[in-house]
Amino acid sequence: MERQYPRLEVNLPLLRENMEKIVDNCGKFNISVCGCIKGCSGLPEVGKLFRQCGCTELGSSRIEEIVDCRKAGVPGPYLLLRVPMISELDDVVRWCDTSLHSDLTVLDALEAACCRIGKKHRVIIMADLGDLREGFWNRDEMVNACVYVEKNLPHVHLAGVGVNLGCYGSIQPTADKMRSLLTIAHHVEALIGRELEVISGGASSSYTLVHWGSMPEGINHLRIGETALNARDLQVEWGIANMGLHMNTFVLKGEVLEVRTKPSYPVGQIVIDAFGRRPSYVDRGNRKRCLVGFGRADVGDMERLRPLDQGVIVLGGSSDHCILDIEDCPRNLKAGDIMDFALAYNNMLYATNRRDIPIKFLYE
Ligand SMILES: *Cc1c(COP(=O)(O)O)cnc(C)c1O
Repeated sequence: MERQYPRLEVNLPLLRENMEKIVDNCGKFNISVCGCIKGCSGLPEVGKLFRQCGCTELGSSRIEEIVDCRKAGVPGPYLLLRVPMISELDDVVRWCDTSLHSDLTVLDALEAACCRIGKKHRVIIMADLGDLREGFWNRDEMVNACVYVEKNLPHVHLAGVGVNLGCYGSIQPTADKMRSLLTIAHHVEALIGRELEVISGGASSSYTLVHWGSMPEGINHLRIGETALNARDLQVEWGIANMGLHMNTFVLKGEVLEVRTKPSYPVGQIVIDAFGRRPSYVDRGNRKRCLVGFGRADVGDMERLRPLDQGVIVLGGSSDHCILDIEDCPRNLKAGDIMDFALAYNNMLYATNRRDIPIKFLYE
């Protein structure tokens, strides 16, 4: 069978404009861009496009996505974004050119894997500057680890140092945080007697410093996904209005299942929803609503789903249903109609991962 809806449309020209603008702006600061494709499940079409836009490298957190891109002929080099598991190191060496690291046990095992596979591998050592995900916490320990790689692991090449911010701890990348990373880098360089190739200042959230012109000199690498893919976090959540990046890049088309006027407040004793949560409901009286044929299995949490029809409010949903308030929508919607939704990062992550959602690439 061939499913028509829900269907995902990926607008490649808009994606191209986004990434070209980002690469161009980063270039003014001598920053090269690693195009991160894990948010769209590593779609090779997107990887290929990012390389055409001037990204010098592609990044994913999953080796499988890197393998798929290589098999599809998308030129690397490839950076593995999630610090690797010891159990996957052979594949890391086989398929990735560079990986991020934060643990000496893993680095020792990586040296052994390089010997087994007969290949050299590049690493970027990560500092944790407050976001509390991966990275060395103690600066001396970090510097020592870099020197250890340089001196004791002949098949592991110390390419540089990096930081990740704005992920777990929601910490804002600032010029000060960047200077902390540069201090570590300069300390390492003094001890190993050469320059590091890569000083990687973070992900999309660090692009703010490029946008504002306040990125300290010396940071020469950013790893960017969301700001090119969805462009929502900085332009909407951060409220930076003048970035000029497109947000209608990934659009999910869903089919209306039911249209009916119902109360907005559930009737009866409220316990828990389909996901064990206790949501709050606003009583707005009777409202015209509709159900659309996709749900949280397809898009994850629905709060940031953006209906492209005017006056539509996303009320919520279950695994397989999306529930919309269409009282104020000028369109006379009925079952069988198709509605478009621009996806945020989490929505895209789910939607690109489902085998029952066909993906259509728009080339112009
Ligand atoms: C996902 C990831 C990125 C890209 O993040 P975006 O916010 O999508 O730009 C960069 N670095 C690391 C380590 C990541 O895991």
